[in-house]
Amino acid sequence: MNLEIETFPCGPIATNAYLVIDPETRQALIVDAPPESADVLQEGARDRGVRISLVVITHTHWDHIVDAARLRRETGAPLAAHPLAVPRLEGPRPPLGDPSFAIEPLSPDRLLEDGDTVELGRWRFHVIHTPGHASEQISLFEPAARVLFGGDTLFAGGYGRIDLPGASVVQTVATMRRLLELPDDVTVYPGHGQPTTIGRERPWMIQVASSSPA
Ligand SMILES: [Zn+2]
Repeated sequence: MNLEIETFPCGPIATNAYLVIDPETRQALIVDAPPESADVLQEGARDRGVRISLVVITHTHWDHIVDAARLRRETGAPLAAHPLAVPRLEGPRPPLGDPSFAIEPLSPDRLLEDGDTVELGRWRFHVIHTPGHASEQISLFEPAARVLFGGDTLFAGGYGRIDLPGASVVQTVATMRRLLELPDDVTVYPGHGQPTTIGRERPWMIQVASSSPA
């Protein structure tokens, strides 16, 4: 039985939270915790009779982490992120222009580095460090299911913006080179918008990868 992937666009800029379900064990992992996602994700899990076993944060921009502390508290599931995410999870910055929009700090329970794996039933998600849009950004790649959860690494038609603090065009180029190694039929589930595939995005990724921004 295949993985079941439910998408919940949440918050003011429709950030995708994903509920990734292993139908055999009825376990699920969550990818990202946007504003107003805690209730819908837990309802989604209840409706489908699944237990949330892990919450993975792709990167620490506010629109991906606002509900992280609540989700961890209410589900009891551990929270995982890259080591470089720790300072921004423990000392989150409010979104620009709105200091009243406080984000509850938290420390991750598990650190995910490049080359680590996240297990869900028989599935093995490979952690790929994909900096560029954010230095701490990770993607989860499941080679058998041929899916990639990339946060804001890669969208339909382009990469995540690099005009933000912590972003790097040099790292973005290196990350695109790395993701070009994935097969065409890998479906990419991004942090915003509709899914795409590596094959569909490959032409512009090749252009970016062959540029030398340094
Ligand atoms: Zn972002």
